[in-house]
Parts: sequence; C-alpha cells; structure tokens
Amino acid sequence: MINVTKTFLPPIEEYQKYLEQIWNSNQIANGGKLWYELQAKLKDYLDSPDLILTANGTLPLQIALKVLAGNGEVITTPFSYVATTAAIVWENCTPVFVDIHPEYLTIDETKIEAAITEKNTAILATHVFGNPCNVEEIDRIAKKHGLKVIYDAAHCFGVKYKGQSIFNFGDVSTCSFHATKIFHTGEGGAMFCKDPELYEELFYKHNFGNKSATEFSGLGINAKMSELKSAMGLAVLPYVDFDIKPRKKIYDFYQEALKESQLNMIKLRGGVEWNYSYFPVIFSDKKHLLKTQKILNEKVIFPRRYFYPSLNSLSYIQGKKLEISESISHRILCLTFYADLNPAQLKEIRTTLIASE
Ligand SMILES: *Cc1c(COP(=O)(O)O)cnc(C)c1O
Repeated sequence: MINVTKTFLPPIEEYQKYLEQIWNSNQIANGGKLWYELQAKLKDYLDSPDLILTANGTLPLQIALKVLAGNGEVITTPFSYVATTAAIVWENCTPVFVDIHPEYLTIDETKIEAAITEKNTAILATHVFGNPCNVEEIDRIAKKHGLKVIYDAAHCFGVKYKGQSIFNFGDVSTCSFHATKIFHTGEGGAMFCKDPELYEELFYKHNFGNKSATEFSGLGINAKMSELKSAMGLAVLPYVDFDIKPRKKIYDFYQEALKESQLNMIKLRGGVEWNYSYFPVIFSDKKHLLKTQKILNEKVIFPRRYFYPSLNSLSYIQGKKLEISESISHRILCLTFYADLNPAQLKEIRTTLIASE
C-alpha cells in the first residue's frame, strides 16, 4: 500500500545505540542527556537558538495561546489541520476565520484588518505545507492593533525565508515532529520564541510551571519531550537532508507531469527555501478530484485529501461561509510524496493524473 507519506525510520542499530545510553543512564523521561543533545543539534541545524522541545505539535499551540491570547478572539485560517482551530477552542478563545489566498493558500493578509474587533488578542496563522504566510504584512497589522502573532509552523522543519529560519517570525512559532512530518521523534514538537522573558514563561509553562524544585512561577502543564523521543530524534536527524534531496527530484518529476494537465500546484512565496514536505495538487472541481483519487486507490495508491474539510465547517464552530477555503479544500489532494518512491510508482501516478483530465 502506498500512502501519502511514509515514516522515515533510521537504521535500527543507530536507534539502539541511543537506547543503550538510556539504559546506562537509567533516565527515560525528561531533562536527560539525549534531550540536551537533541536540543543542541536542532538549534544548530535549524539555525534557530530559541527552541523548547515538546511532547507534540499541538501542546505548544495551546501554551502559546494560553500565554498570549487570554480568552479573546483569535484571527485564524480555516485552511489548516484541525489542531490549529481545536487549540483555540480548547483554550477558551474564539476563532475568527479569515479566508485564504487562492494560490499561496495561506491566510489572506489583506482581509485581516476588516475582521479585527476590540476582543481580538492574537493572530494564529499556518504556514501551509511549509509555504510562509506574508509575515511582514501580518507583523505590521499586529503591531498596529496590539495583537500577538503565533505561527503554526508544523510543516516547516528546515524552511527558510529570506535567508533565516521561518521559526524566527511571530511572537511564537510551533513545529510538529509527528511521524508523518519530515523530521520526527515518533510524536513530538517544539516551540520557538525570540523574546527571552516570554521564552522563560513558555519554558516554565511546559513543565508544570516549575521554576525550581520547590518554586512555581505560575500555572503550567506537562508538555515535555521525553528521553525516549529524543533518542528517536537523534537517530533521524542525520538523515533529514538525505530525505529532502530525493524529494526535490520527485517534485520536479511531478511538476513536469502537471504541465501536461490542467492541474495546479500551490504557489510558493518568493524568498522561501522550501523543504519539499508535501505535493498538493489543486483540481478544477471536486468531481475530477474524486475520480482521480478512485483510480489511484484502485492501484493501491492512497493520496490524502489534506486539508479537508475547511475548518470553519467543523461541527463545534459557528462559522460564516468562506468561499476560497471551502472551494480549495474540496479540490485539493496531497500526492504520495516520499524519498523512496520508485520510478514505476511515479509513472503510475503521473499517467493517472494526465489521463484523468
Ligand atoms: C501535524 C500538525 C499539527 C499537530 O501536530 P501534532 O504533533 O500531531 O500534535 C498542527 N498543525 C498542523 C498544520 C499540522 O500539520
């Protein structure tokens, strides 16, 4: 079976070497040697020094919202994974959806100001499939209206924008290290924050509010990354570049195939160094998408309708209609995209895409 992504697993001996260190240290939870080592290596690899490792990619969204958004209204995108909206609602904030740009698929910054009310405290936007939002314009709007900016950068491992890590933008950025993502620790994640005071607060909050063994800085929760997950991260990290390079080749192959069809790919923002994490294709209509999906499924190839549905249509949301996001989410399919897809599989996908017109 060929799924949309395939989890990268490092050679088992290399994972075992780290496990032996854990067995020797007897430290398997938090704050161990491997946790420090992964933290240092990621800071270096990502060129982003202000990182906190977390248990997954959703808890850092919740913590950032808890600290920065109060219980206010949060301007957000309907075109993301459900975690983005769920975190807002879970933290007793109110999501205010702003439609997306039809080509970049990120929140349409030109529509943000019209949605701002007195109750607004923050903007939570997603860099969709690693494609950056218009961070400069969002920053300008946020400063003008006194709003905080949180980026769901779950897809952005290794992405750079104008020469620096995309994680450096916004008050807080978050990443996911879930097994389906380009770098993973099984499950895991991180949050990034350049402001030292806010960083400290986020750090305490992710560890029960602990300032020291006997002192609490305030309310906190448990979002810590374990030593076992750190071991997986350390074993996977050396292979990330080897995983990204072949993806670039597959990307070029798919691009060629698209030229022969009426299908569109996401438009990447200028100045981005992308990580080739997904290959989303936009069909002319839903019928065309479903037909292609069916043919691929018959060939045991399982692309994924991602992101679907548009989040303003979730059952627990009283959302208004958002034309572009709803239209795109009905017509977008993420093609199977990982390093060791073989040429025969690729040809099969290409033929189907072209023939399904
Ligand atoms: C994967 C993902 C998340 C959630 O990350 P987890 O590590 O699974 O909690 C959040 N937002 C987006 C856009 C994602 O793709």
